[in-house]
Amino acid sequence: IDSSDLFGSLFEAPSLVRVVPVLVPLPVPVAYSYAVPEGVHVEPGSVVQVPVGPRQLIGVVWDGDNDDKLDPKKLRPLTLVFDCPPLSKEMRDFVDWVASYTLSPPGLVARMAIRAPAALDPEPMVEGLRYLGGQPERLTPARARVLDLADEEEIPWTRSGLAHAAGVSMSVVDGLTAQGIFETVFLPPPPVVARPDPDYISPRIEGPQKQASVDILESIRAGGFSASLIDGVTGSGKTEVYFEAIAETLRRGKQVLILLPEIALTSSFLERFQERFGAKPGEWHSDLAPRMREKVWRGVVTGEVKVVAGARSALFLPFEDLGLIIVDEEHDPAYKQEDRVFYNARDMAVVRARIGDFPIVLVSATPSVESQVNGLAGRYNTVHLPTRFGDAAMPDLHLIDMRRHPPERGGFLSPVLLRAMKKTLERNEQSLLFLNRRGYAPLTLCRVCGHRFQCPQCSSWLVEHRFKSQIQCHQCGYSERTPEACPECGTLDHLVACGPGVERIAEEVEKHFPEARTIVMSSDLLGGVKRMRLELEAIAKGEADIVIGTQLVAKGHNFPLMTLVGIVDSDLGLSNGDPRAAERTFQLLSQVTGRAGRTGLKSHGLLQTFQPQHPVMQAIVSGDAGAFYEREIAEREKAILPPFGRLASLIVSADTRADAETHARGLRAAAPKVTGISVLGPAEAPLALVRGRHRFRLLVHGRRNSDMQAFLRAMMENGPKQRGSVQIQLDIDPQSF
Ligand code: ADP
Ligand code: ZN
Repeated sequence: IDSSDLFGSLFEAPSLVRVVPVLVPLPVPVAYSYAVPEGVHVEPGSVVQVPVGPRQLIGVVWDGDNDDKLDPKKLRPLTLVFDCPPLSKEMRDFVDWVASYTLSPPGLVARMAIRAPAALDPEPMVEGLRYLGGQPERLTPARARVLDLADEEEIPWTRSGLAHAAGVSMSVVDGLTAQGIFETVFLPPPPVVARPDPDYISPRIEGPQKQASVDILESIRAGGFSASLIDGVTGSGKTEVYFEAIAETLRRGKQVLILLPEIALTSSFLERFQERFGAKPGEWHSDLAPRMREKVWRGVVTGEVKVVAGARSALFLPFEDLGLIIVDEEHDPAYKQEDRVFYNARDMAVVRARIGDFPIVLVSATPSVESQVNGLAGRYNTVHLPTRFGDAAMPDLHLIDMRRHPPERGGFLSPVLLRAMKKTLERNEQSLLFLNRRGYAPLTLCRVCGHRFQCPQCSSWLVEHRFKSQIQCHQCGYSERTPEACPECGTLDHLVACGPGVERIAEEVEKHFPEARTIVMSSDLLGGVKRMRLELEAIAKGEADIVIGTQLVAKGHNFPLMTLVGIVDSDLGLSNGDPRAAERTFQLLSQVTGRAGRTGLKSHGLLQTFQPQHPVMQAIVSGDAGAFYEREIAEREKAILPPFGRLASLIVSADTRADAETHARGLRAAAPKVTGISVLGPAEAPLALVRGRHRFRLLVHGRRNSDMQAFLRAMMENGPKQRGSVQIQLDIDPQSF
């Protein structure tokens, strides 16, 4: 880093007086010790720059006794103290907690919570117009409209704002300026994030919503930590209920964090928030422009930004005075980070609220089994919203038994579904076809020799993307042009696509409904998040008749004209051997079918399946979520699976298969003997090869009250030394197992 970009003070020729521990952003288990120059003030939480080897890194002064045995003169000194508020005790406790729970290096966790303040260029002034009065040479109707407006409102206008408000072209405004009726002035820029007003509007909260919000407001007013779960069907008004909780927290002058699984795509959420509170919340996610990121960070730290809506990483923002966390769609797998620090933001949010001693509200139409169990055990206060708000009814859901209603040859859509789509089109309403698979076909093979296209560096098939004329690996992103000849036997034009992806469904739709306007929504097709937002807005405005999409369209969106949802393959994901498969499928199918009929139009959901008797399918069509959860919870309890038991997965990877396997076996041998905890494996990981690295997996299973962390720590400490290319990924509470 170039220090001239940073706010802070550099020291020269210091005299060193004491020692402080500093967490550095490296995968090391402990804080490093540094000397503090005389006259320099640092305290636990101070953000500093320190030398590590030849590099300068940004770290944070941590708690712990100054080590008197260390001579400051023999240590390297801090090189810079940043001019920003220190990380609070609350945040430091949170970082420590997350690090010890996930067994992650504390410096890597701390890194998510600190930021070196960068210099911001002064905000550019905005060009504006001031009304000077007077008459134009010629008063056209357009000019008159502009002058009427300017007479009415004596605020400084922007050129485009005035033209837009008057409904005239900018040249009309420019003409008046040229005649001296307006003069150009420079205005200060608008504020980063306006302040939300808890009483901007007062929505009518009645019936079940009233009961739910009374319950939640009570726990907020009682003060201190509490956890509530809003369990309500899609469109039941959950958002409106937690908005009440946010309003109450704002009235108390505290900050609010709203976690959302796909914030970058939910521009409609931001608008809805603005309608209720008169201003948008600050946004926090990976697609934020750097300047905005810097501003939101500062606003959060100083307390100027009152509400942040963010992705899971927002959980580590160092709020000045956080008073409430909302976790919307709390069951969503996107809350799990599986990179460097493996953590579930939903679970860690509860920890953060407990440490900060403030309330948290979890929200879902299909709560996770974990949260359901916490509700049943009285750890969470559960409130229910069993019906949709207003006139909207839940869609009518039916299964299509694909054994009895097969598609025509080469197709994937049953005649039953096609007929329903036709009727929907005739009513000028929208259909959504859901298939959670990107690309054209999940597998491509040669009809002559049977050759299958496999990724050269992963154990996964290459997926054909016909729109791009590519075959791609969905693990590592490897891609090549779709070949014309088989690389094995050389036969031309004999490659066959096996199974459907969204692109192939689009092709089938095109064939049946050539006149319909179709949109394919999948993360790889469209140019980035901006483009996706636009497409989602277009769908909401009714600019498409048929939408074919992956899970991207499943979440949270409100499409007023959507009255038919067809699930192309409801069974996908049921048979992957994962004990969470039933729960996940139930949640996904509920979410997707929940996109239909949000505005009172009669709506339908048709689920294509080969297993109509499966408990998940039965639960979906009967609408009896309660029975499904009851059964699921009983099964987990019997098998001592989470949340009744505990799991951890260790993935050992290396450049060679032998190195990975040997190391994994060594770890297994080093496992201590503890009653109630057992180790399974090592076995080849579900993805045995990723980016050229061979992977073996150990699964650790424990009873509910076992100290898994102590067990795993002992295993790692007593196990073989990590050498060469060997890497270990430790995942506490893995998503799939
Ligand atoms: P959920 O979050 O459960 O999916 P929403 O909060 O989005 O449900 O509510 C569904 C629809 O009902 C939205 O269009 C919302 O504007 C409307 N709505 C919910 N509660 C109210 C209310 N109290 N007053 C007016 N409209 C409401
Ligand atoms: Zn690959």
